[in-house]
Amino acid sequence: MKRATRLVHAGRDPAAQQGMVNPPVYHASTVIFESLDALEKASKNPFEGMYYGRNGTPVQFAFESAVAEMEGAFGAVTTCSGLAAITAALMSVAEQGAHFLVTDNVYGPTRKLCDGLLRRLGVTTEYFDPTLSADALEERITPATRVLFLEAPGSLTFEISDVPALAEMAHRHDVTVMADNTWATPLYFNALEHGVDVSIHAATKYLVGHADAMLGVINCNEAHYMAVRKSAAGMGYCAGPDDIYLGLRGLRTLGQRLPTHETTALALADWLAAQPEIARVLHPARADHPQHDLFVRDFAGSSGLFAVVLKPVGRGGLAAMLDKLELFGMGFSWGGYESLILAVDPSRSRTATDWGEDGPTLRIHAGLEDPQDLIDDLAAGLKRLHR
Ligand SMILES: *Cc1c(COP(=O)(O)O)cnc(C)c1O
Repeated sequence: MKRATRLVHAGRDPAAQQGMVNPPVYHASTVIFESLDALEKASKNPFEGMYYGRNGTPVQFAFESAVAEMEGAFGAVTTCSGLAAITAALMSVAEQGAHFLVTDNVYGPTRKLCDGLLRRLGVTTEYFDPTLSADALEERITPATRVLFLEAPGSLTFEISDVPALAEMAHRHDVTVMADNTWATPLYFNALEHGVDVSIHAATKYLVGHADAMLGVINCNEAHYMAVRKSAAGMGYCAGPDDIYLGLRGLRTLGQRLPTHETTALALADWLAAQPEIARVLHPARADHPQHDLFVRDFAGSSGLFAVVLKPVGRGGLAAMLDKLELFGMGFSWGGYESLILAVDPSRSRTATDWGEDGPTLRIHAGLEDPQDLIDDLAAGLKRLHR
């Protein structure tokens, strides 16, 4: 069946819940077993069925089954945030002396995790240019390399790696391939079909979609599912049932929301590209993006997050532009129904590549507002830059 249909029907079983369309939200810690036999039987596989609140409730299993189906995964693992999903995934392969290869355009807190906690545990992380060829990256593989961690596109600077080629090379060396697939969602990039073993989503963003919950989910192939499940469970990561419910509810309308984010983001990006204040637009779906060919080959669409580099401007002008925007909020996260804008400095979060831009970078999330209203707001903002 087509994706739109599966988004609506995945993970649902009304007959098992008194006919209700949606699964119940049970608030639970203890699960009572009827007999010693039942308890002993459940203990043999504590990750299947109801066992203990931390291991999941019906709404979590429904969410996991739906998300796994969207990316053809063997199983999905829910966590309390996107960062927890990244941590659980990386901890499933971390060991003393291990070597991790991580893309230089990775989400900042992932880099902090690698350079902080994981380094203290004896893991060495090496960052690489996301546009490196498989042959060039192969030279960085050592017998201790355990993971290749990708993020395509990176959520600040939007470079795209050749995921299938890098994954094929990594697998020849028995290296696990993980990717932060938050930007594209399972709808626009099926990471598992492109060779990724473990596809990580900050469900906080488009899956929840309304800026009202923190949630993470990890789609795994069969070889990695149990290790990731045990890693998350072993660290005590679990999400609240109300938040998981919001993730499942958001998933049902993802197929309607994402194309609107996409069209509006492209309208804003195209308009911005023609403005004299803009030095560069960073949007993979535009023909001027350096890896546009990879985007066209591998992605089914683009989401609502992109960036622009302004021509050099003073902080006063920038503040005048941003502070008075009416429709764009300034703040972290993205993927909700509302538009956001954030001044970022990519040079501070990369070590293997030079950023090389002089002007400030603005990361923009196109929400579900009318595109012309958003353009008018940005136009007034660009005028204020010159004050
Ligand atoms: C926001 C984000 C995360 C982390 O998600 P949280 O739910 O905020 O912890 C991870 N990766 C990317 C690309 C993100 O944008």
